[in-house]
Amino acid sequence: MTRSTTFAIGRLKAHALEAGRLRLDGGAMFGVVPKPLWERRAPADERNRIRLAMRCLLLEHPDGLVLIDTGLGNKDSDKFKDIYGVENAGADGRTALEDALASVGFSPEDVRWVINTHLHFDHAGGDTWVDPSGAVRLTFPRARHVVQRGELEFATHTNERTAGSYLPPNFASVDFTLLDGEREVLPGIRCLPTPGHVPYHQSILIESGGERLCYLADLVPTSAHLPLAWIMGYDVQPLVTLESRRAIYGRAEAEGWRLFFEHDPAVIEGRLAKDGKGFALVAPVAVG
Ligand SMILES: [Zn+2]
Repeated sequence: MTRSTTFAIGRLKAHALEAGRLRLDGGAMFGVVPKPLWERRAPADERNRIRLAMRCLLLEHPDGLVLIDTGLGNKDSDKFKDIYGVENAGADGRTALEDALASVGFSPEDVRWVINTHLHFDHAGGDTWVDPSGAVRLTFPRARHVVQRGELEFATHTNERTAGSYLPPNFASVDFTLLDGEREVLPGIRCLPTPGHVPYHQSILIESGGERLCYLADLVPTSAHLPLAWIMGYDVQPLVTLESRRAIYGRAEAEGWRLFFEHDPAVIEGRLAKDGKGFALVAPVAVG
């Protein structure tokens, strides 16, 4: 299995890190889209689940190593792993994310910045890990952790609809640097609020040497979700997602952005282009 894919964003060296796979219900992943339409793009297994990647992005920035999202981590029960079809074990008790980091020459201690797009378990679960004694520790002890202030608030005050996605051991012990809206956290690395999936979801725009790549996260989880209305049933504000997408697609198409897909099992990134009334990917880069 491919652990990592190295590419350039202008002068920045970047690595797509495969933090493992999971399976989620295909109906929930495609919201109101009928199954005969979505299953052509994402075939379902016998439990109606579709295969998804958990793909983090590592940037070799002059100010230090930056990691965007952290996958699931190692704190989940066997029952949880069965329900979600989790495959994220690495070698010798490590996680797939640690193995992916090692494959490009780094260890967790080397990471200086962790940016979480939001705090759902498949995006921030790897911020912490549980040691053999059962203690929860920081996975990246020397990193500054960044998330939107509203998202931390949303994650710590859950209700019956949102609680299943926010598991406190993933984030309760993390000393976050909190953002209020759009912010360039490092030169060329900009957090862009893209609400809808959750109210304070953010996507990350990376610019270097005239090139731009946007880590969309759950704004558009896979390339199959590119049509504006193909919005996940998981989104708490689907009509807000629609407008976040419309705004991002407009900029992406006008400025030639590449779009990075965190959950696509096959496609890492590609350039957005108009295709009739809709949008399509130009020059998609596949997982090796
Ligand atoms: Zn999410």
